[in-house]
Amino acid sequence: MSEQDCIFCRISRGEIPCAEVYADDRVLAFLDLNPQKPGHTLVIPRRHYADVFAVPAEVFSEIFPVVQRVGKAIMDATNAAGLNVLQNNHPAAGQSVFHVHWHLVPRHEADGLCHWPMGQYASKDEMSELAGKIKACLR
Ligand code: 5GP
Ligand code: ZN
Repeated sequence: MSEQDCIFCRISRGEIPCAEVYADDRVLAFLDLNPQKPGHTLVIPRRHYADVFAVPAEVFSEIFPVVQRVGKAIMDATNAAGLNVLQNNHPAAGQSVFHVHWHLVPRHEADGLCHWPMGQYASKDEMSELAGKIKACLR
């Protein structure tokens, strides 16, 4: 997917309309077309990065103040009791638009959205073995 065709690049360039809630020269936030709940907002860097792994470290310090500020505004505007901040990478994790974005979803008590089912490890050994394996993969 080239930046020319990328739907979020096109939104950022103003070629496709969006319900904008925040904009500066680096970051844009707009309502998700198919919201989990009304007020569900996407925060994107204007520059195209496919996923979280492609984002340079300094860009996070541009994104996250906006996540906090817009997140609070969403909660106020929707009278929400909570907020999920979610981010999907690769199709196996549910990513469908390959321009990195953060989902901000306002939540109310017993609002019908499911939380992730919780699993468990067979043993503490299995758990620490996996932690060690992940540690060994750090680059
Ligand atoms: P993902 O599945 O990649 O984590 O999230 C992509 C999100 O983008 C989806 O929630 C989808 O509803 C939203 N989306 C896809 N196309 C458009 C669009 O053209 N405009 C807006 N506002 N949202 C979109
Ligand atoms: Zn893009």
